[in-house]
Amino acid sequence: MIPKYADVVIIGSGFGGSIAALRFAQSGKEVVVLEMGEGWSTDDFERTQDPRYISRLYRDYPSNYLIQPSPIVITQGMGVGGTSLVYCGILERIPDYVWKNYLCSKWPDDYSPEKLSRYYEIVEEKLNVHEPDFIPPRAKVMDRVCEKMGLGDINLRNLMVGIEDCRECGWCTMGCKFGAKMDMAQTYIPDAIGAGATFAERRKAIFIRRAFKGYKVYYRPTTSVDRDYHLVTGWPLDSIWARQVVIAAGSPESPALLMRSRSLLNRFPGKDLGRGISGNGDIPIGAIMQEDVYTYKGRAMSRMCRKEDEDFIIVDMHAPPIGPAVKYKGTFESINKPPQFWGKKHKQTLKNYGERLLILAVISMDEGNIHIRLDPKGNVVIRRSSSYTISNVYEKLKDAFREMGADVGVTDYDLTGRLYTAHPIGGCKMGSVVDPETLELYNNPGLHVIDASVLPSATVVGPSLTVAAVAEKVMGVIH
Ligand SMILES: Cc1cc2nc3c(=O)[nH]c(=O)nc-3n(C[C@H](O)[C@H](O)[C@H](O)COP(=O)(O)OP(=O)(O)OC[C@H]3O[C@@H](n4cnc5c(N)ncnc54)[C@H](O)[C@@H]3O)c2cc1C
Repeated sequence: MIPKYADVVIIGSGFGGSIAALRFAQSGKEVVVLEMGEGWSTDDFERTQDPRYISRLYRDYPSNYLIQPSPIVITQGMGVGGTSLVYCGILERIPDYVWKNYLCSKWPDDYSPEKLSRYYEIVEEKLNVHEPDFIPPRAKVMDRVCEKMGLGDINLRNLMVGIEDCRECGWCTMGCKFGAKMDMAQTYIPDAIGAGATFAERRKAIFIRRAFKGYKVYYRPTTSVDRDYHLVTGWPLDSIWARQVVIAAGSPESPALLMRSRSLLNRFPGKDLGRGISGNGDIPIGAIMQEDVYTYKGRAMSRMCRKEDEDFIIVDMHAPPIGPAVKYKGTFESINKPPQFWGKKHKQTLKNYGERLLILAVISMDEGNIHIRLDPKGNVVIRRSSSYTISNVYEKLKDAFREMGADVGVTDYDLTGRLYTAHPIGGCKMGSVVDPETLELYNNPGLHVIDASVLPSATVVGPSLTVAAVAEKVMGVIH
C-alpha cells in the first residue's frame, strides 16, 4: 500500500534516485520512491537473456522509432535500480583534460575535478570500482585498430568497472544473473530499504503540482507487459503529497515531467527546459574482421582508447542480444539475409557473427543540440538540430577497419542520418533550470532534480559515475 503522505517522494530509482533515497532515509525522513519499471532479482536475470524481455527492461524515446522516422533514438533502462540494471558497469571519472579543455566554461563553479573528488571516492568505494586485469580477445583486436589509426598503445587501458567476481560473460546489458555487477539494486537500494525507504515499483509519475507547503505527485500504475509505458493519458491517477520531491527520472523524462507540470508549479526560468540535451557523442560501428574476434568473450565493454587533449574515446562493445541482430541487420556485404530477431534463429545469428564481428563505439563531446517537446497528449517528441555533427574520428575508424581488410558495416547513421544514444545528458541544466548547489528548481523550494538531466554538457566518458557523485554532493547539502 502506497501512503498518501511522505516527507520525501522520489521519482525514479536509477543512479540519482537511489542515492537520494538512501541519504534522505538515513537522515530519518519517510521516503517513498515511485518507479515506473519492475523490481528484478539476480535470479530473474536468468530469464531476461531472452530478447523478448527487452521491452520490459528498456525504454526508448521515441517509443515507435522503428515505424516513425526519428533523428535520434534515446535508449535507457527501467526497473528498480534504473538504467544501472542494464548498464555495462563502466564507472569512469571525467578526465582532468576534458574538464580543462571543454567543461570548465560550461559547468558552474561549484563543479570541478577537485570539488567532485570526495564524492567520486564515496561512490567508487560503494560500487567497488577498479581496473580489471583481464583483456578480452576482442579488446586486443581493438588495440590494433587504434594503433592503425595512429593513436598508439600509450592511450589504451582497461575501463574502470564496478563489478565483483566478473565471469566475463558479457550479458551486463540484460541484467547480471551472477550478481557480479554492482548496480543500484544491489548496493544503494537495499541500504535505503534498510534505513526505512519504500520503493513502489510499476508506478509512473505523470505530473506534479504545488500543494499546501509541498507538492502532490500524480501517478498511474504500469503493468509488467505495458508497452505503452510512455503514454500519459487514459489511466485513473493516484496521488501522494510530500514536502520535498526529487525528480530522478533521467533525461529526457525529467524535463518532460517538468514540462507537463509547468502550469501547476511556481513560475520558473524555463527557456532551457528540455533543450541542450546531449547524446554524449555516441556512435557505434561494426566490422566483420578477417580474424577471430570472439565477440562474446569478456565484459560488455572492456577497453578504452583515449588521447590526452582530444575530445573522444573509443571503446569496444558487446551487447547481446541486441547488438549484431538489431543494429547491423543486413548491412554487411558478407551477410546475405537479414538476421532474425527472436528465438533459435536469433541465437544462431549471434553465433554466426559472433566470432569475427567487432563493434567499437566513439563517445565524444557534442554540442548538446537535441531538444524535446511534448505532443498534444503530453508524450515526448525528440528533435535534433540540423547542425548536429559527429566526431570525425568515426570516419578515421572506418578507414582503419578497411586497411585491415574488414567488411565495415553500414549504420543507420550512414543510411538515414539517424543516431542512437545510451548516454542522454541534460534538459534540466544546473545553472539555468536548477540551482547548481541544491539542484532545486528555481523558485520552487523543495522540488529537486537529481539525475543525468542536470549535467550541463557531455562528459566524453560514460556519465554514471559523475551522476552518482553529483547526487552524493547535493545530498550532503539538502538531506
Ligand atoms: C545499455 C546501456 C549501457 C550503459 N552503460 C553505461 C556504462 O557502462 N557506464 C556509464 O557511465 N553509463 C552507461 N550508460 C548510461 C547510464 O546508465 C545513464 O547515464 C545513467 O543510468 C543515468 O542515471 P539517471 O539517474 O539519470 O537515470 P536512470 O538510471 O535512467 O534512472 C531513471 C529511472 O527513472 C524511471 N522513470 C522514468 N520516468 C519515470 C516516471 N515518470 N515515473 C516513475 N519512474 C520513472 C526509469 O524507469 C528509471 O528506472 C548505459 C546506458 C545504457 C542504456
